[in-house]
Amino acid sequence: MNYCNECGANTRQAIPDGDNRPRHICSSCDTIHYQNPKVIAGVLPIWGDQVLLCRREIEPRRGFWTLPAGFLENGESSVEGAIRECYEESLAMVENCRLLGVFDIPYIDQVYILYRGDLTAPQFAPTPESSEVALFNQAEVPWGELAFPVVEMALDLHFQQSEQPQPASHHLVTRPWRPQAR
Ligand code: ZN
Repeated sequence: MNYCNECGANTRQAIPDGDNRPRHICSSCDTIHYQNPKVIAGVLPIWGDQVLLCRREIEPRRGFWTLPAGFLENGESSVEGAIRECYEESLAMVENCRLLGVFDIPYIDQVYILYRGDLTAPQFAPTPESSEVALFNQAEVPWGELAFPVVEMALDLHFQQSEQPQPASHHLVTRPWRPQAR
């Protein structure tokens, strides 16, 4: 951050009084601009023994498969955001959302909150954000073409417990990953 979004002056980096890490501080109005992780909400949409995945039409990782998810908007709950993103990316409607897990990704300053959600119908379609939308069972998932580590972790957790009547919620810290053949 080079310029203050309050007054437009240059910012400098310094540790404010009583703080313990550098912040962007306005050189004119002294506003301290805190930068914090972003929250991403999403759904693992379920239809029978299948899950819905989207092939990304946008960067990063264009062409790779992902779960519908996106940045939470102000004024919205994480479930509302997850349902909205699911519809925006796949035109699929989900209901009965229950927490699959919270996935901290400290190396890129993101927190994912992902829900299991039941598709209300097997209806979905490509969108400006997704070149393809499709259902996969565990064996059909394009494991070698997933967009992000968090997608692989979420799918693994889901399929490990998909037969259980009350699958658990999870909290994981996600580390960088190099896609490998499974
Ligand atoms: Zn300022």
